[in-house]
Amino acid sequence: MAVVSPLDLLDLDALLTDEERDVRALARRVVDDRVRPYVADWYERGEVPVRDLSLEFGKLGLLGMHLTGYGCAGASAVAYGLACMELEAADSGVRSLVSVQGSLAMYAIWKYGSEEQKQRWLPGMAAGELIGCFGLTEPDHGSDPANMATRARRDGDDWVLTGGKMWITNAPVADVAVIWARTDEGVAGFAVPTSTAGFTAREVKLKLSLRASATGEITLDDVRVPESARLPTARGLKAPLSCLTEARFGIVWGALGAARDCLETAIAYAGSREQFGRPIAGFQLTQAKLADMTLELQKGYLLALHLGRRHDTVGLRPEQVSVGKLNNVREAIKIARQCRTILGANGISGEYPVLRHANNLESVLTYEGTSEIHQLVIGQKLTGLSAFGG
Ligand code: FAD
Repeated sequence: MAVVSPLDLLDLDALLTDEERDVRALARRVVDDRVRPYVADWYERGEVPVRDLSLEFGKLGLLGMHLTGYGCAGASAVAYGLACMELEAADSGVRSLVSVQGSLAMYAIWKYGSEEQKQRWLPGMAAGELIGCFGLTEPDHGSDPANMATRARRDGDDWVLTGGKMWITNAPVADVAVIWARTDEGVAGFAVPTSTAGFTAREVKLKLSLRASATGEITLDDVRVPESARLPTARGLKAPLSCLTEARFGIVWGALGAARDCLETAIAYAGSREQFGRPIAGFQLTQAKLADMTLELQKGYLLALHLGRRHDTVGLRPEQVSVGKLNNVREAIKIARQCRTILGANGISGEYPVLRHANNLESVLTYEGTSEIHQLVIGQKLTGLSAFGG
């Protein structure tokens, strides 16, 4: 009997344009050539060749691909989402590299930067020659960035930044850091060259998740930058939060890629693994698991596609992205864990991608707003009451 891949069951491909399918094929090709054969080893060693990958992705127009001008590809949100899905089907850490570069660092400069800042940074970042990071989270302030401790004070024509940022993707290798700091006029953003005196980025070690991603702790020790480094139109916390909305959109799609890879692995494994004299895929309990996971994958895909089409036409409201991030990451991690059970002991081996995806998704569940924070965003919309303070 012919078998159908989990995402083909409903012929959802029919909802994509030829151009979108082409972008997906391009991303899938680079992932198959440049990431899949190596990623288990990067994960085990906790090292990833960020510069090489950035150049490779830059050549294909995958960095800041949904932005326009300055060397960016100007692709649709759906095309960007599909690329995120393919990248994360290989590894969430590799998708994070692209999300942080394009949707956080580049987007912040593209949206809030001066023409001079855009000319200085964006073409090189789109090409993957320059790497960016986005410093919002601090050691003591994660879900509640409004209380950030990092300060920027004016000193003549300059700004002096002091404080620290924690858990910053790409920081150990970045050329430019978008740093959010409190000023007398509210939160402001700065495009800080990482070579500036007083700026240091230390690699976060001992991660058990997202190991194929460079994560850093940034120290800002009287980092002096000119006024021209301040993002002129970024006023208040709304600015970094708008960048997060962009990045969360990519995660809505990306998480499904990790889930799809787990499910495809589990289906293939179940078809060849025999116990009690027959393939475990033939057991009803295994089929129930596969069917239920496929339902969630398809529902998540339809949700992502709906959000993508809205993004490309009328735009998205933050709570709509919260619905997508909360649902798709939560379901993806459930799928990864369930697939792990189907692989039995092999499920814990790095020979298969499943536990690596599950472990990665622990980070994805936490960054870009934890599940609880997205529940509160949605809850506030439903009730008109903010429960963030308790
Ligand atoms: P906390 O805010 O301390 O939360 C701890 C727990 O309390 C969570 O379960 C949370 O949901 C819950 N909680 C908090 N407040 C409430 C509330 N009001 N009601 C109910 N529950 C609540 N940050 C960046 O700025 N840039 C990056 O590039 C970046 N990359 C990251 C990469 C990785 C691998 C990881 C793990 C994190 C990264 N982060 C980054 C940080 C990430 O965004 C934060 O970890 C996240 O916002 C949560 O903050 P926290 O870890 O301080 O947890």
